[in-house]
Amino acid sequence: MQERGINSTFKKIIYESSEMVFLADDTFPYSIFYANDAFENQIGESLQEKTLAGLGLDINAYIFKEELILSHDGKEYSFRLELPYESSANYFLFYKGKEVKTLGLPTKKEAQQFFTSFQDIIAIGQHEYLTYLNGSVLPVLGYQPEELLNSSLCNLIHEKDLESVKSIWREKVGNDGNAFFEARIRSKSGEFKFIDFSVQFTPERFFIIGKDVSEKAKQKQLENQIENLKVNSPSSAKSGSWKFNKSINSISFDAVASNLIGLAQQIDLANAIQSKSVQEFADKWGDCFVKIGSESASFEFEIELLESSTKHFQFKGIKVNDSEFAGIIWEDSEIIDRNRKINRLEKLLLESPDPSMVVFPDGKVYIANHEVVKLFGFEEGRNLKHLSELGGLFDNPDLWQDWIQNEGSESELQRFSTNLINTQGRQLTLEICSKLIEVEEQGFISLTFRNISEKVILEKNLEESSDFLMNLTEQVPGGLYQMVLDAEGKMKFSFLSKGIGSVLGLNPEEIKDFEDISMAISRVHPMDLPQVIMSSVASAKKQEPWQCQFRVKTDDSQNQYRWILGAARPQLLENGDMVWYGYLTDISDQKEFEAKLEEARLTAVKASQIKSDFLSMISHELRTPLNAISGSTYSLLQEQPSDSQKTALNTINFAVDNLIIMINDLLDFQKIEAGKLTIEKASFNFENLIQQILNGLSFHAKESKNNLQLNISEGLNLWLKGDKTRLSQILNNLITNALKFTKEGDVTVSVLLKEMSTNKARIYFEVKDTGIGIAKENQEKIFNDFDQVKPTFSSKYGGTGLGLSITRKLLSLMGGTIQLESEVDKGSRFYFELEFEISDENPVPTFTVKEKPSAPLQLRLLMAEDNDVNALVLGKIIKKWGFTFERVHNGQEAVDMLKTNEYDCVLMDIQMPVMDGFDATLAIKSFSSVPVIALTAAAKLEIMERIDECGFDGFVAKPIDAAELLKKIKEVVTGENYSA
Ligand code: ADP
Repeated sequence: MQERGINSTFKKIIYESSEMVFLADDTFPYSIFYANDAFENQIGESLQEKTLAGLGLDINAYIFKEELILSHDGKEYSFRLELPYESSANYFLFYKGKEVKTLGLPTKKEAQQFFTSFQDIIAIGQHEYLTYLNGSVLPVLGYQPEELLNSSLCNLIHEKDLESVKSIWREKVGNDGNAFFEARIRSKSGEFKFIDFSVQFTPERFFIIGKDVSEKAKQKQLENQIENLKVNSPSSAKSGSWKFNKSINSISFDAVASNLIGLAQQIDLANAIQSKSVQEFADKWGDCFVKIGSESASFEFEIELLESSTKHFQFKGIKVNDSEFAGIIWEDSEIIDRNRKINRLEKLLLESPDPSMVVFPDGKVYIANHEVVKLFGFEEGRNLKHLSELGGLFDNPDLWQDWIQNEGSESELQRFSTNLINTQGRQLTLEICSKLIEVEEQGFISLTFRNISEKVILEKNLEESSDFLMNLTEQVPGGLYQMVLDAEGKMKFSFLSKGIGSVLGLNPEEIKDFEDISMAISRVHPMDLPQVIMSSVASAKKQEPWQCQFRVKTDDSQNQYRWILGAARPQLLENGDMVWYGYLTDISDQKEFEAKLEEARLTAVKASQIKSDFLSMISHELRTPLNAISGSTYSLLQEQPSDSQKTALNTINFAVDNLIIMINDLLDFQKIEAGKLTIEKASFNFENLIQQILNGLSFHAKESKNNLQLNISEGLNLWLKGDKTRLSQILNNLITNALKFTKEGDVTVSVLLKEMSTNKARIYFEVKDTGIGIAKENQEKIFNDFDQVKPTFSSKYGGTGLGLSITRKLLSLMGGTIQLESEVDKGSRFYFELEFEISDENPVPTFTVKEKPSAPLQLRLLMAEDNDVNALVLGKIIKKWGFTFERVHNGQEAVDMLKTNEYDCVLMDIQMPVMDGFDATLAIKSFSSVPVIALTAAAKLEIMERIDECGFDGFVAKPIDAAELLKKIKEVVTGENYSA
């Protein structure tokens, strides 16, 4: 180098240059004699001939150019060339060598390729008008090149891009320079295409290379959209992406998505029968897409896959074109689970049957369930916001407020009960429970409400009824107990009321320990013990109520007993125990009273007996003298007395008759009282009887100057069964009264047949007078015992006041009821009805007094009478009848007489020495059929019964009514019924 005059400094500069530098001889073959590393590395090392010719350079063509281009190994390099102007220099200097590409210019080859490529539009223009277009405008934009010649580029640019393109143009046009931008160009079909522009401006022209980047732009847009979807999806979820081609029904996932969903990255859904999970996905995917329809530009849906394990996915997507869709997927199983759990819990709380709510410590409501709303009576669906809304409902709002603020917000469970009237006006008692609960540093107060109104009422009722029962058990006289006999046979008291103490003589302390039944038994009087035990055992065995009266020792020290009445009812329990519910009561006083009562009863019975005996005795005693008086009067009247004697005798007769009636009344009354009067049922001729009664009273009627009339209906000539004596007594009594209390008036007796069937006749009886009448106030009284309107044995009327009482009683025994209608001074009407059986026997009378009046009976009688006065009076009467008789003084004599003599009839006194009338008759009847008539003053029932037993044929009471006796004699002798 030295020899060529190149100094070392110059060499150093060349060597250190980063650009290629080399030196070549200026003479043929123009050898490259020096070059720096940059040249050697890029060109020199691969150069076969290190000459300019080897580089393919025709140096002469560049003699006057400072810059030249070298081609080597397919690459082009530009160099600056320094020619050797100095004579001494004999080389060329090539410097600033660099590969042409670094300037951004294409290689020739590339340029060739570039130009031949018909995909890119190449256009040349001036100002803004196009003067040349290559054939690519047709495939890219759909225009023939000629169509666009001389048209303004602006016409083709999307309005949104126009302004920016215009500003580039304004800046660059007419100068040298480049511009690179993207703009949307309207194609012939109207669709805009994204074109990547590279424009070279020269002072005269512009050269455009336009590349269709629509696909790339769309792709980018899609990516942006998907990125957007991701941005809008929940940040916590890890999301993957998917693409779906509807026309081929295929879906592809990216790695994340495929991992999430657990399926392959590429799935052919049309042919998804690869696995169950793919099938499940394909089905659900299909369903979702059917729902989305083909029009939605963006959409989202959820899919839950259950096949492998329940997973829940969210899909968000956009429609790319008619067949392509893309989007993102993320799994939200956890969120869904959590949401479901929250929903479930919320629903459970809202629908919980217990009224409950949660509030913040300041009283704001967090949640209140339906039952709370209902409880407080708000309309359904009401949204409670603050506890203060409830305050007004409480009976004591201040208390509630206090409670909420203080105790209500304790972390310990607090209870509180209060009354309120809800908005519906319902009165409630609530039990409120509250507890402060901290959740993530936030305090909540949980409140539950319990409607305890019913419970409170029930408790109150229970308490009241328990108090009531307690009071009852304590207040009842005596004591209540419950006794249990268990399956093992043990008997003990399970309950004893306080009252037991006083019954058994125990103090309250002793009662508490008083359990063992043997303690009670030991107190029972030994005499009563067997009865107590036997009755208890019987009650247990038969499960029947137990009742027992027994004595119990009330004082341990002294042998003092009290009478106790025990009663209990057993009940068999399910467990086999027998329980008695019973009471014990002290009946000592009652017992004492009973004893006194019994004593009094016995005394009364005795007194009654005495009375009865007295009445019987007195009547007997009275009858004997009366008998004498009556008999004597009768005899005297038969002996043609003077008129004045006759009047006196009649007065005596009247008085005696009255006395006899009174005594008879008394005896009847006593009999009825004693319940010993029986009603006979014997056949009698009804009409005859009525006639007899009236006949018997005709004298009385005449005497009282009254007109006595009988009004009897047809068809009563009947044989009836009944007690003719009592019927006569009733009618006699009523008619006698009517005659007695009527002066110169009418007494009408009506006997009417009311009803008649084959075997029964119902007859109406009426006794009507025109007498003094009976005042209203006395009309009931007169039927009472011994009652008279004027309670005197008045001389005017006489009587005992027993007649109507007896009448009523007799009628009721015969099945009738006496009734009365009366008016003072106008008269009275007594009436009643009786039913009689019609008698089957219809005896044809063989003998009547009327039929044989001219043939008086000739009879021989035997009179057994110890009393001489009676015998005398009776004898006189018998003689008057024209009969003969013999008298004996006692029964024995009568029997003896009958053994040897014939008599037609025996008149037998009852009370006689040696042998009384009963025994005598019994003896007589043993050998004779002679009729025996008893004559007795004693109308006592026993006597009557014995008379029947001994076979007497008849009975006539003393004092003897002569007519009655005659009638009876005729009856027994002839066997016929005689009228008096
Ligand atoms: P007495 O034996 O006194 O007649 P009664 O029982 O037969 O008893 O009658 C009671 C009273 O009823 C009589 O005293 C009389 O005052 C009144 N009495 C009964 N019948 C009549 C009547 N037909 N007319 C008016 N008063 C009568």
